[in-house]
Amino acid sequence: MLQQTQVATVIPYFENFVKSFPSVADLANAELDQVLSSWAGLGYYARARNLHAAAIKIRDEFAGEFPSGQQDLESLPGVGRSTAGAIRAQAFSLRGVILDGNVRRVLCRFYAIDSSPMQADTQKQLWQLADSHTPNFPSSGNRHADYAQAIMDLGATVCARQPKCEICPLRTDCLANAQGRQNELPIKKAKQADKPVRYANMLIYQNPQGEVFLERRPPTGIWGGMLCPPVIYFDSEREAFLGSEGGLPLRRHTFSHFHLDFIPVINNQEESDGVLDSDDGLWYNLNSSAPGGLPAPVSKLFEELRRS
Ligand code: SF4
Repeated sequence: MLQQTQVATVIPYFENFVKSFPSVADLANAELDQVLSSWAGLGYYARARNLHAAAIKIRDEFAGEFPSGQQDLESLPGVGRSTAGAIRAQAFSLRGVILDGNVRRVLCRFYAIDSSPMQADTQKQLWQLADSHTPNFPSSGNRHADYAQAIMDLGATVCARQPKCEICPLRTDCLANAQGRQNELPIKKAKQADKPVRYANMLIYQNPQGEVFLERRPPTGIWGGMLCPPVIYFDSEREAFLGSEGGLPLRRHTFSHFHLDFIPVINNQEESDGVLDSDDGLWYNLNSSAPGGLPAPVSKLFEELRRS
């Protein structure tokens, strides 16, 4: 949950989540809809799908035991090299190398690295440095979890975006501090052009009972696996407007890599003609809760429809 989302936002979702799924087995045995419901509002739903898929993999391939090997951990959906290192150190008190955004910032400054940490060769260098700094504690009294927490906290609180070098325990050996370059490093990657825009109409079919038709989205892609009104994509804003008779004002939802500009188009159905009956769809009462939760912009739109 904490990948991409701040602690204060996560806390109530986390508490609710562990109450609903107190063990790996509970999570693995739950329906994906239940998991997505607990996630609704947090965004980046791929994390919830990965968590569920990882629990299933642990149940089916690791006999229900959470693995502790680096390679086994990296084989779990959604777990990369750094997350695997963090799990090893913090959950199992084993040596685990971490290179998250905070650790990356500390190393780039400490060694005054002059290339973008996003470049492949810099990444390789940073992994080597992170590895060389991770201690090999003797088995008794090992402090792998403490080291992992300390290096991440140093980056999060002291060597933060605005570095507090005056209180930093590394300041006497830090090259960026010696060169007065702590505010220039890490090197920023070239500024990206604004995100591309995709255009769509969202078709709101309403039957005489006031119910709205929802269909199941494909498992991957935006809002993967969730229920949503049918969406039609267009190549341009103009085409989207031309096909939007009965449309409400355009609204924008921003994803990590693009903006989605969409027009909700209301279609009142006199009676069901069978065209919309499908195994992957259902008529949804606006006052009930949707199985699996609804994407945030759809919830907002339905709230407006409810009020009007
Ligand atoms: Fe970061 Fe400053 Fe500490 Fe260097 S001395 S690691 S730049 S906080």
